[in-house]
Amino acid sequence: MANRYQAVLLFGAPGVGKGTQGKILAQIPGFYHFSTGDMFRNLDLSAGIGKEIMAYMSKGELVPDQLTIKLWRENTHARSVLGFYKPHHDILILDGMPRNVKQAEMLEDDINVLAVVHLVCRDKDEMVRRLQRRALKENRQDDAQADVIRRRLHVYEQETAPVLAHYPSDLIYEVDALGSPAYVLQHILEVLVPVQDAHFNNPITGGEPVSTGT
Ligand code: AMP
Repeated sequence: MANRYQAVLLFGAPGVGKGTQGKILAQIPGFYHFSTGDMFRNLDLSAGIGKEIMAYMSKGELVPDQLTIKLWRENTHARSVLGFYKPHHDILILDGMPRNVKQAEMLEDDINVLAVVHLVCRDKDEMVRRLQRRALKENRQDDAQADVIRRRLHVYEQETAPVLAHYPSDLIYEVDALGSPAYVLQHILEVLVPVQDAHFNNPITGGEPVSTGT
């Protein structure tokens, strides 16, 4: 399928630092960060569909697949029409999606997965501490309560972790998520720079050069 978005998945449990890294990567020409969690949080959560979505999020449950994919498709299209995201120049850094195997299957016609960056943190207590710190800083209801955090981690293990097996193992790169943002970023870039080079800068593969914004 020629028109699929070129994507890298930022993968890992809640609290592992996907959002932090995604936001840094978003500053680099040629990468476009898209967080489905942010997409939902930016809706009006007090009424209509936003209110329904909030009910899932506040319990640590996944938003239903059809709704998630529909909103993601509309959002991605809108961002490309508005010129924020340039599919022919930018690698889409998907943060928080696919969240289960069904979503991975549903996205097959939409994205071409160039790599999966799996952020790994084996220290569960540290992840919980990070979630709680962030909840205070960003006023996130879902991470303020211990039982919701536990539910989020459980959903990750049951539904999200199996997504890794959906992709070829040679596309999956494990990156140690324990360390400073700069340390983690360095290791993510070791993966992404060659991916970006191979895909967009290589005259043989025929990609277009990344936009520099100048
Ligand atoms: P996050 O910011 O990625 O931790 O996501 C926060 C919450 O948004 C999750 O706990 C889910 O309720 C919802 N969410 C984010 N991404 C997805 C997705 N791909 N599918 C379903 N629910 C999602």
